[in-house]
Amino acid sequence: MLPRFWRKIKYRYDIVGSVCETCNTKYYPPRNFCPICRRRSSIKEEMFEGKGKVLSYTVVHDTPEEYKLEKPYIIALIELDNGPVITSQVVCSENEIRTGMRVKKAFRKYFEDGEDGIIYYGTKFVPDED
Ligand SMILES: [Zn+2]
Repeated sequence: MLPRFWRKIKYRYDIVGSVCETCNTKYYPPRNFCPICRRRSSIKEEMFEGKGKVLSYTVVHDTPEEYKLEKPYIIALIELDNGPVITSQVVCSENEIRTGMRVKKAFRKYFEDGEDGIIYYGTKFVPDED
């Protein structure tokens, strides 16, 4: 059984990225090479907290049929509190989304494969209302 503190940490810091220890640049998705430091790069895995704020967003009205996403859906540039800027879907309405909005990571059903019924999960964000 896992110690309680570890489960808590796993819950909060659950976005796996990487950091270059040479220049302290954080990456998501994780990289194994730092384009800034090149040969001097020293990359290690780092967990980022799944909370941040919306820097900008796009409302997408056209989605590929196979994703079966609700339309329209929102893609946002999210600045994580302790990490890098990432791109992710934010699950909320077009009227609700705004720049500077607090969001947190959530698992939502991503899409279903009609053939074998496999359900894929992806990282998505939802509004983080206090
Ligand atoms: Zn670097």
